Amino acid sequence: VGASRVRDLFEDARKQSPCIIFIDEIDAVGKARSVGVASANDERDQTLNQLLVEMDGFDSQTGIIVLAATNRADVLDPALLRPGRFDRRVVVPISDILGREKILAIHGAKVKLAPDVNLKDIAKGTSGMSGADLENLINEAALLTARANKTVIDQETLEQARDKVLMGSERRSMVIPEDEKKITACHEAGHAILAQSLKGLDAVHKVSIVPRGMALGITQTLPEENQLSISAEKAENMISMLMGGRVAEELIYKHFTTGASNDIERATHLAKKMVCEWGMSPMGPINFTPENQGGIVNVFEFSEQTKQQIDHEIRAIIKRATEKTREVLTKEAKSLEEITNLLLEKETISGHQVREIMNKNKTV
Ligand code: ZN
Repeated sequence: VGASRVRDLFEDARKQSPCIIFIDEIDAVGKARSVGVASANDERDQTLNQLLVEMDGFDSQTGIIVLAATNRADVLDPALLRPGRFDRRVVVPISDILGREKILAIHGAKVKLAPDVNLKDIAKGTSGMSGADLENLINEAALLTARANKTVIDQETLEQARDKVLMGSERRSMVIPEDEKKITACHEAGHAILAQSLKGLDAVHKVSIVPRGMALGITQTLPEENQLSISAEKAENMISMLMGGRVAEELIYKHFTTGASNDIERATHLAKKMVCEWGMSPMGPINFTPENQGGIVNVFEFSEQTKQQIDHEIRAIIKRATEKTREVLTKEAKSLEEITNLLLEKETISGHQVREIMNKNKTV
């Protein structure tokens, strides 16, 4: 950064014309300039000013195209986005199932894949992964294959690699006390039963009590399709599922452990979005997220009363969802016990096994 470097860059570009200037992470210099505040960011502001000046000097004859990339288009200085500057926007969304399958195929072409490999299944289970994550997945699979002295990458290894990229590698050497293991099994069985019971939730793919990364256990679900929007019902069901672990512990052991803190965080985050962004509470379709002005969050935007009401609605959603969780797990007490025991015995079970147990108990 620095105004003089921007000047040099554009001078260079004019000499090389026709050419493309690409600025990565434009938000690093292009953040909205501070208004009124004696700026601690003088250098950055000067860089930005110089960039604006240079871009104004263009006409259609110059033969220079300026491209910039950012994940935070919302914090950019409005002057940057005016006509004649960065006035066209190309959104590159995170890829969908089909996109991920194709990205996997590109990176998969560089390694030896077994003929039975089904990249579509891997694509299904990598929702939210970026191109770089997928490349990493293939690399991990290649490493695991080499380590096992195999010559081609098979489906199982790809799945192992995906789990590793998604959740960190298994920590089989970690010694877990037996009672802790029981609580973890009960916790994950709770999640799995909720995921399988409530409408609109993704099917359970795998449940495991082998510790990975920071987590002691995991319930993995696989979306069939890309979800572009979620209904209020589904959002609440997602919260119920997140509460499944904690409620299962409560029902069986009559007390909680700290294992649910991440679940609680995610559930609260969802409930907050329902109230403040998605208009899914009696407060109506009003956006209650504080506006971010040039990096300064305006916290005085809402009255004390509004804040209290937001709190109240978030609490109401969590309470309602947790009650539903309790209802489901009480009804499925037998499945909860059986899935917990199977998990303790096998450590990792498939969604198919979960469904089998639940179906069997339904017919009795
Ligand atoms: Zn959990």
